[in-house]
Amino acid sequence: MRVTFYGVRGSVPAPGPTTARYGGNTSCIEVVLEDGTTLILDAGTGMRALGATLLEGNRHETVHLLLSHTHWDHVLGLPFFAPLWRKESQLLVYPLPTDAQERFQRTIFDDIHFPVSVNDIPAKVEFAKPSAEPWRIGSATVRRIALNHPGSSQGFRIDDASGASLVYLTDNELVRGEAGEPALDALARFSASASLLIHDSQYLDSDMPAKYGWGHSVIDDVLTLGVRAEARGLALFHHDPNRTDDDLDAIKARSAAWLSERSPVTQLCVAIEGQTLEL
Ligand SMILES: [Zn+2]
Ligand SMILES: [Zn+2]
Repeated sequence: MRVTFYGVRGSVPAPGPTTARYGGNTSCIEVVLEDGTTLILDAGTGMRALGATLLEGNRHETVHLLLSHTHWDHVLGLPFFAPLWRKESQLLVYPLPTDAQERFQRTIFDDIHFPVSVNDIPAKVEFAKPSAEPWRIGSATVRRIALNHPGSSQGFRIDDASGASLVYLTDNELVRGEAGEPALDALARFSASASLLIHDSQYLDSDMPAKYGWGHSVIDDVLTLGVRAEARGLALFHHDPNRTDDDLDAIKARSAAWLSERSPVTQLCVAIEGQTLEL
């Protein structure tokens, strides 16, 4: 399984000299399975570059799009995904956590938010309706789990025939203390022994308590989840738009030290736009 980060930022794109190394585009990840099937996790602004890469490589295969939810930072790249404007392309979009969000997805192309109407998209766009969960995509089995986020969000676990497993949990607020234990336990079971766990890591302790209830996690809690799940890799993701490259370097150093004291198995990564990981 090959995983490439095209957008790692949360909430809003954050381009500029202070974010150039980690990247300013919002959530979008390409996953290529053992049998060559291509999945895309979220359609943030990173999806624009991913579309260009697919066309440059003459890759016109069906693309499977899994959305966590439809907040702007997770869908804004969709109209600028070049394969959408080619009639030979096919995009299969998987169910969202709620009907309301599916309706919203259709309204992106409503002549108000974007100049082209949904009926004028040349590519074949279909909404997949898996009859049961978990469902199959290519050589993988896909499961989903409800997350703690305003308006709801969903996370995915992708287990490939190769034995590699990827868990993608954003946007999600891990709640501290006893009240948060059931959810932490459920997420740790969902993520158990994953080759790579990618988790929303937007906040620091110093951001709290002002941002409790905003639907994103404090990095220390994400590290705790990674250890509890015994994930082999843990990627901090959905970086706060105000976090500079130097801030993220400091977060990486501190988090790696924290993890090395507590877990012999979990390797830390702070997601970088353009980075590819082979699982
Ligand atoms: Zn987000
Ligand atoms: Zn969100």
